Amino acid sequence: MASEFEKKKKEEEVFGAEAATSLVKELRATFTSQKTKSYEWRVSQLKSLLKLTNDHEKEITDALRSDLSKPVFESYVYEIALVKSSCEFMLKELKHWMMPDKVKTSIAAFPSSAEIVREPLGVVLVISAWNYPFLLSLDPVIGAIAAGNAVVLKPSEISPATSSLLAKLLGEYMDNSAVKVVEGAVPETSALLEQKWDKIFYTGNGKVGRIVLAAAAKHLTPVALELGGKCPLFVDSNINLKVTARRIITGKWGLNNGQACVAADHIITTKDFATKLIDALKLELEKFYGSDPLISEDLSRIVSPNHFARLTKLLDDDKVSGNIVHGGQRDEINLKIAPTILLDAPEDSLIMNEEIFGPLLPIVTVGSLEDSFNDMNSKEKPLAAYLFTNNKKLKEEFVKNVSAGGLLINDIALHLTNPYLPFGGVGESGMDSYHGRFSFDTFTHKKAVLYRGFSGDVSARYPPYTPRKLRLL
Ligand code: NAD
Repeated sequence: MASEFEKKKKEEEVFGAEAATSLVKELRATFTSQKTKSYEWRVSQLKSLLKLTNDHEKEITDALRSDLSKPVFESYVYEIALVKSSCEFMLKELKHWMMPDKVKTSIAAFPSSAEIVREPLGVVLVISAWNYPFLLSLDPVIGAIAAGNAVVLKPSEISPATSSLLAKLLGEYMDNSAVKVVEGAVPETSALLEQKWDKIFYTGNGKVGRIVLAAAAKHLTPVALELGGKCPLFVDSNINLKVTARRIITGKWGLNNGQACVAADHIITTKDFATKLIDALKLELEKFYGSDPLISEDLSRIVSPNHFARLTKLLDDDKVSGNIVHGGQRDEINLKIAPTILLDAPEDSLIMNEEIFGPLLPIVTVGSLEDSFNDMNSKEKPLAAYLFTNNKKLKEEFVKNVSAGGLLINDIALHLTNPYLPFGGVGESGMDSYHGRFSFDTFTHKKAVLYRGFSGDVSARYPPYTPRKLRLL
């Protein structure tokens, strides 16, 4: 994959500092012309994005298949359909969101009226990741356009087929004086990051998140960081075991074979329940993916040899050699790893200390789930945390005590499909959020506007500050 990308890159003109500067200059000229601010422009661009998606479903699923062997069902449900519903939601709500909000005024400013006027930030940069390369590229772009910004998208070079398809389709369908795609890897992204942006929206790992934040600090540019973490999944014994097993499998291996920021990283359950849960998972796994999951068409492959090596290193760690209770098979040529379950891997093993981001699922057994909610507070805050239970009190404790970007009870990942909920991390899993109204807000400045007239002028506020005026305080 990387060599194909390198070859293509060499054939093209290198995108460096000069090209980045002129790109931003061009977009800033468009933004200054006020074109992108109008309701009509925003609607026309959102409709174009929707049309692009409707017209090219087959090419999009083909690109995702080429980059990740992503099953067509998954590409449709988790990428194409979500992009479409995001466009449709914006189109439905935009007019109302753009209206100023009348607010109350203070006694100090009496008489006056006040409102919050929403204005676009300007020229924004979206840097996206490889695992949901269509959705994670376009969903922030939808927010940026809805809010009236000019935008540059830098898709991930690790998913080259989707990256070049996005460049081609956005070139054909969008207003290219305001919406651009720059393809590339670290040198191109570094050239872009040198520029002055009005917002940078980054999706990816925390190490690069820190590079983005440092680059943004030079220009005092606000940043949204959509990062990851080790999303825990707590499983109580008071559940419907079959439904739980099916949802866990879909929320781990059915999400790009575990290569998803919201996939369950590890399970936490009670000692006496672990065997029952493992048996149920094994049974349903075989029903879903057959007896040889390495040849299943319904499981994505690992994205690249580097990520394959990263994941097999977690499995080959001597510390977990006795802990694999299911799976473990791999096919290096086709970059496939079978759904793999580990039981009670040691706390100091690699797998228990890194975000897994792949088809390996450790199960940790504890004495009590309630106690383990509190243990989470000593760890970095994850993007999501999940609980399966019918126990009302346990649900309440979970919501009260567990801090994460988002929580979901009795399912996995579905919270991100609700446009009325913010999607984003906290602490190590990121900052700022998007989806629905939150996407509009993240690319919008809330301008405070106060209106005063000339009547009712109070002379007490003006110098000289006589003793009589002081007595009024
Ligand atoms: P990636 O390798 O595609 O990198 C993300 C982006 O950063 C790419 O566009 C890449 O070109 C750019 N980049 C890489 N190195 C860079 C550098 N040195 N300087 C500037 N830019 C650079 O994706 P990844 O980081 O492997 O993605 C996986 C991570 O992203 C996981 O931690 C996952 O949890 C997280 N993630 C989060 C979300 C979310 O919505 N919160 C979604 C998907 C992935």
